[in-house]
Amino acid sequence: MDQVDCVVIGAGVVGLAIARALALQGREVMVLEAADAIGTGTSSRNSEVIHAGIYYPQSSLKATLCVQGRALLYEYCAQRGVSHSRCGKLIVATSDAQVAQLQGIIAKAAANGVHDLVLLSREEARALEPQLECVAAVHSPSTGIVDSHGLMLALQGDLENAGGLVVLNTAVAHMQSVQAAITLIANDGTELQARSVVNSAGLQAQALARRFGGLAPHFVPPSHFAKGNYFTLTGRSPFARLIYPVPEAAGLGVHLTIDLGGQAKFGPDVQWVDSPDDLVVDPARGDGFYAEVRKYWPALQDGSLIPGYAGMRPKIQAPDEPAKDFLIQGPAAHGVAGLVNLFGIESPGLTSSLAIGTYVSRLLSAP
Ligand SMILES: Cc1cc2nc3c(=O)[nH]c(=O)nc-3n(C[C@H](O)[C@H](O)[C@H](O)COP(=O)(O)OP(=O)(O)OC[C@H]3O[C@@H](n4cnc5c(N)ncnc54)[C@H](O)[C@@H]3O)c2cc1C
Repeated sequence: MDQVDCVVIGAGVVGLAIARALALQGREVMVLEAADAIGTGTSSRNSEVIHAGIYYPQSSLKATLCVQGRALLYEYCAQRGVSHSRCGKLIVATSDAQVAQLQGIIAKAAANGVHDLVLLSREEARALEPQLECVAAVHSPSTGIVDSHGLMLALQGDLENAGGLVVLNTAVAHMQSVQAAITLIANDGTELQARSVVNSAGLQAQALARRFGGLAPHFVPPSHFAKGNYFTLTGRSPFARLIYPVPEAAGLGVHLTIDLGGQAKFGPDVQWVDSPDDLVVDPARGDGFYAEVRKYWPALQDGSLIPGYAGMRPKIQAPDEPAKDFLIQGPAAHGVAGLVNLFGIESPGLTSSLAIGTYVSRLLSAP
């Protein structure tokens, strides 16, 4: 049986960032990816926003890794020539009742170490974005956008330069803990033995962990799936910055993001579904977008939103439960030597990816 030091399962942005971090520590790393290319999962179906780290509970992994990851990401993009823009975002209150929520957002961000938010009056916000309608707004200058595929290619390049390897078309079917090593069995029957294994399989992470012989089932959280549908705006973007309403219970509200080509889109909304493969956008959902968007952009024309694409959030909580943190379990948590499982790596996973890489590599080097 072939042997390798570390295997990372999944070549999404998080798996690649972890693999890079391990390879830069001098470890031998192989990434196994079920698809025929890197980054075809959730990593290619998101908003590509570099989040500042505003909304997450203080000291949560989401807050800590987002704030660290954002700084690392801007530095990395600049060094490696990955396209990005520090375009900024406005969080807008569209009623007097929401203005107090803006103050709460500023306080929450400060608790997370995000100290650059500025409260703007209606006039100040409209001086930045003349087409915006609001009562007041918060400006986040350190929010930005990134070319996620360019980022993944750069991570893969670093991994390969450090001696690592990405193996495509290879789905891991089963794993088994054997003394101080882990045996992996691929769908085609190939077997491999590794000292360390990182399960970064995104939407499939729980299903894969349930097929791990030697991991107690209670360490694997339930899987839930929340689809996020996007609707693309025809014509030019009316805004230069990202525009977000004050957040809702399960998502960030129907917000506007722009890509590096200047294309504007609205979404993602939140649609709980049974299957992670349910990625078709129902055009009828766009009807509900118009009223939401017009609260902050009254000039939105009828018929100007067209179905775009959808991404799937890998949730570890049911629809009626409060939002949960990233769940990253190393050997100290579950007792299986050499294994790290990552569950619920939804937003801000892209922003946090480089920080998650460092975090996981430390879990595996802990005595
Ligand atoms: C709608 C939406 C919008 C988002 N917007 C943002 C944003 O703007 N900013 C931000 O920071 N984050 C955002 N996120 C979150 C971000 O996209 C994810 O956190 C991130 O892409 C997760 O990367 P990943 O590598 O964990 O998962 P994935 O990209 O899903 O990669 C997992 C990989 O594992 C592979 N795999 C699965 N099973 C196996 C197996 N058995 N064997 C081998 N390979 C396997 C899959 O093929 C896949 O390539 C958003 C998410 C969604 C859903």
